[in-house]
Parts: sequence; structure tokens; C-alpha cells
Amino acid sequence: MPTVRSEPPQVLYSMPRDTSSTSPLDRSIRPELDVSVANLRKARLQIAAIVGEENIDSRIDEIKRHTGTEWSSHPGSPDEAPAAIVRPNSTEEVSGVMKVCNELRIPVVAFSGGTSLEAQFANTRRGVSLDLSRMDKILASHKDDLDVVVQPGVGYEQLNQALAEQELFFPPDPGPGAMIGGMIGTGCSGTNAYHYGTMKNWVISVTVVLPDGTVIKTRQRPMKSSAGYDLTRLFVGSEGTLGIVTEAVLRVTTLPRNIRVAVASFPSVRAAAECVGRVVQKGVAIAAVELLDETAIKCINESGATGREWLEQPTLFLKFSGTETEVSEEIQTVREMASLCGNIGFVFAQDEEEAEDLWGARKTMLWGSQALKKRDDDRTWITDVAVPMSRLPEIIELTKQELDQSGLSGAIVGHVGDGNFHAAIMYGEDERTLVEDIVHRMVHRAIEMEGTVTGEHGVGLVKRDYLPHELGQSTVDSMRRIKQAFDPLCLLNCDKVIRAEA
Ligand SMILES: Cc1cc2nc3c(=O)[nH]c(=O)nc-3n(C[C@H](O)[C@H](O)[C@H](O)COP(=O)(O)OP(=O)(O)OC[C@H]3O[C@@H](n4cnc5c(N)ncnc54)[C@H](O)[C@@H]3O)c2cc1C
Repeated sequence: MPTVRSEPPQVLYSMPRDTSSTSPLDRSIRPELDVSVANLRKARLQIAAIVGEENIDSRIDEIKRHTGTEWSSHPGSPDEAPAAIVRPNSTEEVSGVMKVCNELRIPVVAFSGGTSLEAQFANTRRGVSLDLSRMDKILASHKDDLDVVVQPGVGYEQLNQALAEQELFFPPDPGPGAMIGGMIGTGCSGTNAYHYGTMKNWVISVTVVLPDGTVIKTRQRPMKSSAGYDLTRLFVGSEGTLGIVTEAVLRVTTLPRNIRVAVASFPSVRAAAECVGRVVQKGVAIAAVELLDETAIKCINESGATGREWLEQPTLFLKFSGTETEVSEEIQTVREMASLCGNIGFVFAQDEEEAEDLWGARKTMLWGSQALKKRDDDRTWITDVAVPMSRLPEIIELTKQELDQSGLSGAIVGHVGDGNFHAAIMYGEDERTLVEDIVHRMVHRAIEMEGTVTGEHGVGLVKRDYLPHELGQSTVDSMRRIKQAFDPLCLLNCDKVIRAEA
């Protein structure tokens, strides 16, 4: 029998005075952070007692590396440099650092591999860059359960090397050098996403230090769970704005077999994109498909990365894997689709080494494209959007035309199997407005086609103001409410994803 209580009911949860469900910008309170020299000195002493003085770094070159890159969409400025880099070694140390920063109101930005492209790790409010690279251990590998437990500073390439010894594989493959913490931060994907899905599909659980130092774990290790809100997926793609990931349980799969790589050339980017549309509509589960325009192929030829001259035409790099029968059936179907789209060459990598070189050249296209620079101090703007598959040929063609007419050098590449493509555009300081206009129109076009402002690179600083157009103002305001619930002081990567103040 339930006990009958005579006392008044206890308050179960307190309602905030504001009874609305969203947080519009005009009702947001300006974050009160304190980066005065005296306060930073005080913080430094307390943080040194937690991580050790040797793990606090203020060397100029390291500060620069933690401020931005020349291929970030936001050029960055000395005002956005961190006052110091802190390198913790455990969840407890991260929690201790956050307690100090919470108490002293010092802003913090998490940093893993530093390869993100939308200024995600710029310290817009100075403060601390929390570099997780010392936390680089694979803590457990459960082959029977197909999962691993890792720290945030583990690189995906390092993880795959270790997994290969057990015939296992972790598919998300963003920029070389990226680490699990930052990959969770951006909700990345890469060339394997068409077949395997994105980072969101490969994170089972995360251990997170919240802005006030509280440590939470979002769930245990089962492949599925309906236990409460899906906090795991809330943190994936949150760009370090809600908490610091200090451990993750990741799904892994078996190593792909019988890999074959083919290079198919087409008369136009539209024809190449149409071929991909046909392959996807037919449900052919190829391992990966990448589009490169003729400029991108020229860069690969000039870099000498593959030791062979490829036809400088819009091209698809195709990867097949599976049983031998599956691979030969897929190749047969894709060849048929390609020829229906005016394919003008279908060549296979002659051996494993050439296949790896080709894929490597695609992955490092950004560096290959540096050859397109007209001046040494030109910068690169890499932007990505994604649209429903049926709109892909049209948006790629329009973007390509606009890029060609602008007089700027640039290449179009993309993980087109899921409707996602990138433009990498070189520009000088005096051409910033020109490149901004091209990116602006590309992003607007994607939204108008019921697409998204970013398929995988994330929002960071520059794309924040497109979100209301894509998602609606109330949706963005509800995101702001989530941010305020986790981080009421706006300590963590304040200014990223959504604006904290007008
Ligand atoms: C040549 C090149 C190719 C690329 N190709 C792809 C691609 O194919 N697909 C793709 O998706 N991206 C690609 N990228 C972009 C980039 O590699 C990804 O965004 C990647 O996920 C970033 O990981 P990182 O470790 O470098 O993160 P960082 O740049 O260090 O951080 C990224 C974000 O995550 C946050 N963060 C870092 N660590 C943590 C943590 N422990 N907890 C919480 N938040 C954290 C940071 O604050 C920041 O907001 C490419 C980049 C380059 C340079």
C-alpha cells in the first residue's frame, strides 16, 4: 500500500521564472566572463596544481596552432588566441580544471586534432585552450561486442592501425590528424559515410565533463538502448559547447574485404553527379564514391601522389568491397550506370598500393589544391553543403559555373553518395568579399533545395547565422535553451553553433 502523506508535497523541480520553452537572442543575458590578467594568473596557479606546471603551455608557436589555420573559413585574429594551453591527462583533471574555470569564469575551448574547418577551436573570448591530445589511450577493446573504449586524444588513423590487428575497422574518416574528441565535437563523416554512416552512428556512449566540473556518462555499452533522452547524440556535433568528452565507447565493424578502387571520368560534373544518383537510387551498396572536378584531378596529377597521369575530367573515385561475387556484381552495375551517363573512361587501380595512393590523394586534396594559389599568402576557404540526392547534379553544376566565372581558383570535391560536396576556393585578402558571396549563394541554394548548410564540417562561427533560414528561428532558440541549460555561464566555446548575444 502506498503511504498516505499529510505534509504538503515537496517541490519536485523548480520552474524558472521565464516559463517559455525557448531562449530568443534578445532575452539572453550577456555572458560575464573574466579574462583579466589578474584572474588568468590566479587560474593558472590553481590549474597548475591540478595538471602540473609542465602541462600549461604559452609558447607562441603553440598558441598560434591553437588559434586557427590558413584554411579555416574565419581568418582569426590575435584577440582570439588562447591565453594558455592546458593539457590534462584524465577525466578527473579535466573536471578539476573546469571547476576552477567555472569558479573564476574563465572561458574554455576544447582542442583535439585541430583539423576542423569552420573556426571551431578559435578562442573568441580568449581564456584556455583545453588540449586533449595527452589523453590518447585505447582503454579497452571488446572484439566479441564490436566496441572499443577510447580517450579523446586517440587519432582515428592510430585507432584503425590497432584495430586492423584484430581484423576490425572504425569507418569515420575526416581530415588526417583528427582525433576522436574533435570528431565527436564536429559529428564528422568522410569518404566512408555513404556505406557506413556518420560519426553519429558510431558513438555508443560518452563520458563528459560538464562546464561546472560534473562528470556524466551517457549510457553503458549495449548496441541499443531506450533509456531516457539520447544525450550521446546531443553531444555528437555540439562542437565543445555543452561539455568536454573525456572517454567514448565506439562501435567498430569487421575490416572490409576484397577492396577494389576504380576511376571513372565524365564529360561534365553534372554527368558524374547524375551517375551517382543512379547508383544510389538503385541501392548499390558500394563502399564509397567521391566526386572530383577536373581541377581537383589536375592537382592530383601535379602532386605526383599516385605516380600516374589521370584524365583531367570530372571524375568519380569508386571503392568496392565485400565478397568477390558482391564486388563483381557491383562493378558491373556501376559500369552500366556510368555508361548511361556518358562515361569516358573506367580504369581500375592496378594494385593495392595504387588504390591506397588514390584514396590518400583524395583525402589530402586540400594540400594538393595549394598548388592553385596565385600568391604565397592566399588563403583557402573550404565549405560544404548537402542536399537531397536528386538536387545534387544541379547544385554542383551551378556552383561550378559560378566558381569558373568568378576568376578565383578552386576545386569541387565531395562525398557525393550522400548528397554532400565541398568547394575549396583560393583567395587573396582583397578577394574576401568575392569568395564570401560565392559561399553565401552556395549555402542559400542548398537551403532552398531543402538541404543543409553543412553536411559534415559543422557550424563553427561563420555558418551560425544561416541556421534560422535552414531550421527556423524557434528551433535555433530551442538550441540556445539547451546551451543555457548545460552551460549557463557560456564558458564552453561560447559563440559557436549559435550566438550567445546579439
Ligand atoms: C585535409 C582535410 C580533410 C578533411 N576532410 C573531412 C572529411 O572528409 N569529413 C569531415 O567530416 N571533416 C573533414 N575535415 C574536417 C576535420 O577533420 C573534422 O572536422 C574533424 O572531425 C575535426 O577533428 P579534430 O580532432 O581535428 O577536432 P578539432 O579541430 O580539435 O575540434 C573540433 C571541434 O570539436 C571540439 N572538441 C575537440 N575535442 C573535444 C572534446 N574532447 N570534447 C568536446 N569537444 C571537443 C572543439 O572545441 C571544436 O569545436 C577535413 C579537414 C582537413 C584539414
